[in-house]
Amino acid sequence: MGPPGAGKGTQAVALAARINGAHISTGDIFRENVARQTELGQTAQRYMDAGEYVPDEVTNAMVADRLAQDDARDSFLLDGYPRTLDQVAKLDEILTDLGSTLDGVVALTVVEDELIGRLLERAKVSGRSDDTEDVIRHRQDVYRTETEPLLAVYRDRGLLIEVDGMGTPDEVGKRIADALPA
Ligand code: ADP
Repeated sequence: MGPPGAGKGTQAVALAARINGAHISTGDIFRENVARQTELGQTAQRYMDAGEYVPDEVTNAMVADRLAQDDARDSFLLDGYPRTLDQVAKLDEILTDLGSTLDGVVALTVVEDELIGRLLERAKVSGRSDDTEDVIRHRQDVYRTETEPLLAVYRDRGLLIEVDGMGTPDEVGKRIADALPA
């Protein structure tokens, strides 16, 4: 978990490889569907472009499907999900049905000024339609309102592993590795 620009995607790819698990990024799945102009992509696109979350029922159904695939059976890393309290509840149900559990929730912390700066830099090369300054700022607000409360939920469950996300990707990756249970 972490706000937009915290480096979730970069760290998630490395961490999934390290645990030999499926890397499940809801943002990536939505973008693939937008690129292929599937029905899901057409639904998701207008929310993404506005920096809003895609409705929970759409996202939850997509994740339920993805987690049921073979490559996610032994281990998986969720990147960008859950982001709402409704998604937390649904994820609990999905995992119960699959007979699976979460081992931990890694949250990257980065100060807001740095986040905006990183996203504006990324905007120059990403081609992402949601990397414009207004939308970037709106995505930060949505994160604070909708997603930040989830940190307390996972902290109460004893699952939260908070990691300083400032510094180079390698430095942050090393911090994550050191913070994980052996
Ligand atoms: P970022 O964290 O930089 O916003 P992501 O690639 O994780 O980038 O997500 C991009 C967009 O995809 C989000 O702004 C949102 O519209 C949509 N999205 C991704 N994950 C979710 C989710 N769990 N629930 C709802 N919408 C999501």
